[in-house]
Amino acid sequence: MQDSAPRIFVNDTTLRDGEQAPGVAFSFNEKLAIARALDAAGIDEIEAGTPAMGPDEIHTIAAIANANLSCAVMAWCRALEADVDAAIVAGVRRVNISVPASRIQMQVKLNANPAETAESLRRIVAYARDRDLEVAVGCEDSSRATPADLALLAHSAQDSGAFRIRYADTLGVLEPFGAYEAIRRLSEATDLAIEFHGHDDLGLATANTLAALRGGARHASVTVLGLGERAGNAPLEEIAVAAAQTGQYATHINISDLNDLAVLVADAAGRAIGETKAIVGRDIFSHESGVHVSGLLKDARAYQALDPAAFGRRHAIVIGKHSGLAAIRAICGDLGLDPEAETMALAEIRALAQRNKRAVPVDHARRIASAFQEILSARRADSRVWP
Ligand SMILES: [Zn+2]
Repeated sequence: MQDSAPRIFVNDTTLRDGEQAPGVAFSFNEKLAIARALDAAGIDEIEAGTPAMGPDEIHTIAAIANANLSCAVMAWCRALEADVDAAIVAGVRRVNISVPASRIQMQVKLNANPAETAESLRRIVAYARDRDLEVAVGCEDSSRATPADLALLAHSAQDSGAFRIRYADTLGVLEPFGAYEAIRRLSEATDLAIEFHGHDDLGLATANTLAALRGGARHASVTVLGLGERAGNAPLEEIAVAAAQTGQYATHINISDLNDLAVLVADAAGRAIGETKAIVGRDIFSHESGVHVSGLLKDARAYQALDPAAFGRRHAIVIGKHSGLAAIRAICGDLGLDPEAETMALAEIRALAQRNKRAVPVDHARRIASAFQEILSARRADSRVWP
């Protein structure tokens, strides 16, 4: 990370948007454990839940708010006094007040026009500020809002005492160039800090979040593993590592905590972590291709994107259809194979992987290599006896 890299703030909403993923329901203990793990990993802010959901949710948010975490704890509210009151009961000091920003959502959710929505926002932010809450304003469906409507909401939020505005790509319809332009435009319309909240419907949530940061956002809204509505959100682990790896942004995230955090959330969500999931997938440090393995064994930097040691992990050589002799030598170095045995073993291993359509376990590959070596040695012994 460059010393001059600007600091960005990572706001995690695994416990709110993440839990809105279909079929996901965290228990009280799971939520508290996730909150503590997020805090320990260096998250700046946790969106802990939605107090308006009722007493159980309020009880959970209160426990998180009282857990002596270093990070800020926020509750998600609609633009309703009852929601703000519920957040106060939960004991948080910070709320995100959400308003629709697109015309279609203003109409469907509030039956209101932009001026009426902006006025409602002004009133509810003032209501929360009067009760000593720190208020961030979330503009739902910002990506389908007109720039003028978004600027109007930003003015209302700023004038009434909010400290931040969230640009939510609620439906995940942005692409990175559009995200950059939209945030740049919004930053010209307001002095408020800008947070970007991206969804992954087009597989672009991470790219859009990075583009938004380039455009002037300083807060990234993320979830562990990208857990969230529909295709999910920008994954915490991807944003944190991309920030560090590119040297473009500084965060307080402990990269070495990301794996454990992913496992904790996946277990609580009842979801498997994809084998090739960026940053935390099982196979992301595994190599089979002969060309790659050969290069890695000579100098890991030849084919290393991320240093596995930074994540408490190691490169793994997978033996399969695309393996080369370098991999056979690497796993059989102690067997004293003749070059001919190596070549024969490689051919057999490749054929086996092709037939079974899967990798060959290292132990099995070693047994194959040993068997060929024995055959060769026996033949040689025979030829000495019977020249
Ligand atoms: Zn969302």
